[in-house]
Amino acid sequence: MTHRNLVVLTGAGVSAESGVPTFRASDGLWCGHRVEEVATPEGYAADPALVQDFYNQRRRQLAEVHPNAAHLALAELAARWEGDFLLVTQNVDDLHDRAHERVLPAPGFELIHMHGELLKGRCTRSGVVSRWTGDMAAHEPSPDHPDGRIRPHIVWFGEMSLRMDRIDRALSACDLFVSIGTSGNVYPAAGFVQQARHAGARTVEINLEPTLGRSMFDEGVYGPATRTVPEFFAGL
Ligand code: NAD
Repeated sequence: MTHRNLVVLTGAGVSAESGVPTFRASDGLWCGHRVEEVATPEGYAADPALVQDFYNQRRRQLAEVHPNAAHLALAELAARWEGDFLLVTQNVDDLHDRAHERVLPAPGFELIHMHGELLKGRCTRSGVVSRWTGDMAAHEPSPDHPDGRIRPHIVWFGEMSLRMDRIDRALSACDLFVSIGTSGNVYPAAGFVQQARHAGARTVEINLEPTLGRSMFDEGVYGPATRTVPEFFAGL
């Protein structure tokens, strides 16, 4: 079967073998913290020092990790894919970006970080987003607004995911949808498979093990992403 319009959704599982801890792991915590503490606007308002420190640590950790074979297989696919290829990641790390720096993608390719990026900061008053590679202070002053502060450019629970118009358009036109290393617990990403099915796409889940949403996919491929992702796309 030939596919032209591809949408791939990735989650924390694609970066796990690079050494980036997944979200829920087995303990329901993100690196030892409850998500309400570190991934909600209320958590930030209650304790900005704790929240900034949490993301400062995640940001520093990026220097110690590298794209793995799954990120690289997707980057190589992006270089040779002849139709539209939208890669939507829920990850806030920059491992997909770094993989795509090594192999120039084809013109129909686009990468969207729907939950934001660790390496960007956002002014709380102006909304201006800028690259940010160092630490952020608890009350980091904003260069864009006298009363603004710089917060992590991360979509917290209760906030709107980014670029949803573009993602909806791609899902409604896709003929292949592949979900990689995501538990399917976090909406709206968890609903993408239904949108793709509605468009008539073939739907595939790639994960360590079947997720709770397995029955929504036509096919499942199970095992570590560094093995399953290169194998699956080589066989397309
Ligand atoms: P999740 O932690 O809820 O689920 C991870 C999924 O990956 C699980 O289904 C697990 O079975 C699977 N998995 C684990 N190791 C794998 C491997 N080696 N190969 C294949 N699959 C593997 O993650 P989620 O669904 O992405 O939702 C988490 C949310 O937390 C996202 O919104 C994201 O923004 C945030 N988050 C991001 C990062 C990151 O940027 N790397 C890390 C943790 C959390």
